[in-house]
Amino acid sequence: MVQLQHNIPHAENKSKVHISVTLAVAVSLVLIMAGIWNAHKTGQIAEENIKTSLQLQRLSDSIRFHQESMSSAIEYALTTGEAHWHNSYETSLLNLQDVMHATDMSFSNSIVEKIQREHGKVIALERQIFDHIADGNQDSAFSLLASDNYQDIKIEQEQDALTLRATLDRKAKSIIDTLKDRLDRTTLALVMQIVLIVAIWLYIIAIVRRWQRHQGKHSEELTRLAHYDALTGIGNRALFQLRLEGAFQQSRRDNKAVGLILMDIDHFKDINDSLGHDIGDHLLIKVAEELQKACRESDTVVRLGGDEFAIIATNIDKKRDSAILGNKILSIFEQPLQIQTHQIKTGTSIGLAFYPDDAESADELLRKADMALYEAKRHGRANFKFFDTAIEIAARNKANMQADLQIAIDQNQFALHYQPIIDIAKNSVIGVECLLRWEHPEQGNITPDKFIPIAEESRLIVGIGAWVLRAACEQQVAWENKRLPSINMAVNLSAVQFNERDLLEQVEQVMLDTGIRENQLTLEITESTLMETEGDLIAKLHALKSLGLKLAIDDFGTGYSSLAYLKRFPIHHLKIDREFVKDLPHDSHDIAIARSIIKMAHELQIDVVAEGIENQAQLNFLKEAECNYGQGYHFGKPMPAKEFEDWLTRYSNQNYNNIRAIK
Ligand code: C2E
Ligand code: MG
Ligand code: MG
Repeated sequence: MVQLQHNIPHAENKSKVHISVTLAVAVSLVLIMAGIWNAHKTGQIAEENIKTSLQLQRLSDSIRFHQESMSSAIEYALTTGEAHWHNSYETSLLNLQDVMHATDMSFSNSIVEKIQREHGKVIALERQIFDHIADGNQDSAFSLLASDNYQDIKIEQEQDALTLRATLDRKAKSIIDTLKDRLDRTTLALVMQIVLIVAIWLYIIAIVRRWQRHQGKHSEELTRLAHYDALTGIGNRALFQLRLEGAFQQSRRDNKAVGLILMDIDHFKDINDSLGHDIGDHLLIKVAEELQKACRESDTVVRLGGDEFAIIATNIDKKRDSAILGNKILSIFEQPLQIQTHQIKTGTSIGLAFYPDDAESADELLRKADMALYEAKRHGRANFKFFDTAIEIAARNKANMQADLQIAIDQNQFALHYQPIIDIAKNSVIGVECLLRWEHPEQGNITPDKFIPIAEESRLIVGIGAWVLRAACEQQVAWENKRLPSINMAVNLSAVQFNERDLLEQVEQVMLDTGIRENQLTLEITESTLMETEGDLIAKLHALKSLGLKLAIDDFGTGYSSLAYLKRFPIHHLKIDREFVKDLPHDSHDIAIARSIIKMAHELQIDVVAEGIENQAQLNFLKEAECNYGQGYHFGKPMPAKEFEDWLTRYSNQNYNNIRAIK
């Protein structure tokens, strides 16, 4: 969307510039062609006019020359009596006739015709004069020369010749004037064409410059979009890579450390899900703003994606400076953040790693800061952790454990132990909790607390959990078949399993396959699982309940669920976490918590199981507080199936075989 908004004007401008330049080139070419044609035409006209002008000049000169030379020839012939002057007369005459013939005299026909007419008469008379001279008849020649007829024609001819010459001179002058005028006009046209071409190109240059400036801004904008996060306006992963490399170079020059701080917002997904994405977006914007305020100008704050932020802090004295920054970041979340009309209380976990001490490359630094972040989360959120080798070892162990877990699945290294659950008032066994055990070939027994989180992270828990459910149900049916007292089987369900799309089908299938009676199966779901559930939690719980099985909330009190939630959940049991049982009956807080949980649960018709009962005093207190059921080492530790059967026999004997199902 953002990109489109920027691209359209750019494309429009580009095509405008393209059209303008094409037009300018076309107009310029037309003008240049017109200029060339005009100059060529002017040249042609000039050439023609000059030719005509020269011809006229020549004719004028020839007439004058002929008249002079003709008079001289007759004069010489008469005075000397030599007839050969007739020849030069004839030559001059021929020359004049040639010139007359070659000259276009359309402009003065009447005079030319008149001259030609007179010319014929004069030539005839003058030839007679030369004939008389040739005959030695000088007197006749003189009298013809002096005759009025000849003299009149001669005078008239001379006058006409003068008129013609004047006309010719005028004509020559007019040609020159026309030519001058034409040249002036051509020059003016050329100047105007040049001015027009220059103006067009100046305009085009201005357009192109403006476009280039626009393009410059456009490419700046593209660079900005490529390096900055569209939502928060802070840097993105691309800028992060760039700045981190730059920071490394500076660090090598200045011999100072570069700190990488990674953080994310606790339970961001829940905020998004419960308050909507718009609020989630505004929270991200707010956090980005606060982070920038907390950092120095020289630090780079980026959003790596989702709710994950990173800060590159240069020039730092490692622990001290970055601990200050870490605390500043934590303090952003100390108070609820005001997002529109909502006061959002959230937190953050922070991981820190340093170049060059912890890592030599960007990837390694990021990986190590990420390990530190993971460690911070593991230590219960809202804190920061520096990367150290212990973290790396833990991460490596985790990776090894994941690989070992896969082998454990393939080689059936898992077993199930069963811990009894007792009806406190009746002192009878009402069920067992099935607890997973891993017998590692080298490391021996590994407790679920250590491997279940890793199995969850790698999703291996899906397969493991499915096996547990099936094996536990089979065991329950086997005990039924052995005619042991009816025992409810409680199976722990991981959050990952709970979020599986086909959980309902899976459970139903196991129940069908094993033939377990529906009210003999309880699924234990921890409080935190319920909190992390995607989609409609209540509907999911109802669907499970509709299979006839029982639902229990495990480790109650350690998560986030409030007692108010309980009334909406279709659950049968609530298991008070052993943390609140441990210090009973001495710790006044634990007393208050245990009592209120039991009271509240009973008001909601929910039975309560107390976990981790280790002594009689705890049991007495819980009995007095009317807690329904108890589980703990005081009754029996988790044990293999066979051992549990023996235990059950012993326990039943001790307690007058008073074993019954709850309902
Ligand atoms: P949980 O479901 O709350 O199980 C009770 C844990 O408390 C068991 O630890 C049990 O051995 C221990 N416990 C019982 N009574 C006492 C007592 O009196 N004192 C003390 N200190 N501890 C007592 P365990 O077997 O180590 O299991 C730990 C957790 O691992 C379980 O807590 C459960 O959340 C998880 N887990 C165990 N098996 C499975 C399983 O098959 N699937 C899943 N998803 N989680 C399991
Ligand atoms: Mg449990
Ligand atoms: Mg528990």
